[in-house]
Amino acid sequence: MPAQQLKQDGDFLALTLANPDGLSPAHFSLDNGTQVEIWDTGVIYFEPAQCGQQDIVLSCGVHGNETAPIEICAALVRDLLLGKLQLSERLLVLFGNPAAINNGTREIEENLNRLFSGHHSKGAGLINAERRRAQALENYVSRFYQQAGAGRERALYDLHTAIRGSRFEKFAVCPFLHGKPWKKAQFQLLAACEVSTVLLMQTPASTFSYYASNSHGADAFTVELGKVRPFGENDMRRFAKAEQTLRALVSGTLPPFSEFRQADFQLYEVYRSINKQTQDFKLHFADDVENFTSYPLGSLLATDGDLEYRVEREGEAIIFPNAKVAIGQRAMLMVVPKDISGQLI
Ligand code: ZN
Repeated sequence: MPAQQLKQDGDFLALTLANPDGLSPAHFSLDNGTQVEIWDTGVIYFEPAQCGQQDIVLSCGVHGNETAPIEICAALVRDLLLGKLQLSERLLVLFGNPAAINNGTREIEENLNRLFSGHHSKGAGLINAERRRAQALENYVSRFYQQAGAGRERALYDLHTAIRGSRFEKFAVCPFLHGKPWKKAQFQLLAACEVSTVLLMQTPASTFSYYASNSHGADAFTVELGKVRPFGENDMRRFAKAEQTLRALVSGTLPPFSEFRQADFQLYEVYRSINKQTQDFKLHFADDVENFTSYPLGSLLATDGDLEYRVEREGEAIIFPNAKVAIGQRAMLMVVPKDISGQLI
């Protein structure tokens, strides 16, 4: 009986990884009155006896080899199940891709974080486990927000670690808001997690955070907490602030934020996305270049058959370069600094 086991060891991650293809729903209560529901493998819902105004989704393991966020969420779930962490908000914790976590790889067949907002059903349709999982995760998030109804504060923090190092170790991606203002309180929350670099997207995307933002009006971010390492090799001290802040968030014990100052943040917007068009696509910088690296105007960045890509704007910086993507997919994103004063609430 998973409920008995979970109340004893709190190890929902182990239960998930032992059953990567599915878990029967289960429901039980903790001694402090918190209701716990297992909705599926990697999907666990908590409802405290007294609910605050927020509906919070924490997700990790959308990319299976991004271990630090998985360890952070597994420990948070464990402490909730063992009654060591008091919950004040409704909370859904998601371990995105259990099969890929078991496999120690980013994905099994397809990048799960390119399949949301219905992309799972486009083209060939629900042909693989990742596409079916994306659809299932959308349904769980919908159920979670809709159960509590409208008029509450919705948030989703999708926690990742980047494949490469970064000039700014931690950064967040804010999905396209379709003209809605950015929220100071969300930037302050990120800053409390030691995330002061934010990439502001200006187009719809197939990511989990865009899905939560656009479909459910959630304050949603993809949060990159550092560099990918295998399980057990993460220096968890580097994630301590993020971990503390997320725990304080779900337990209603966040200290008041200091005053918002845009100067405390590095804000970027996308200038252009460079897609791979031929098999000859080649990056003209070192393989291990850090995210947010910039080069002088005119520097050659990449070639693709007869095409040349050079630095066109002062301060233009590279993120997520990857020459190995499939033809037609994004091989790198070029970003430029952005001023959003006047567009904040
Ligand atoms: Zn990732």
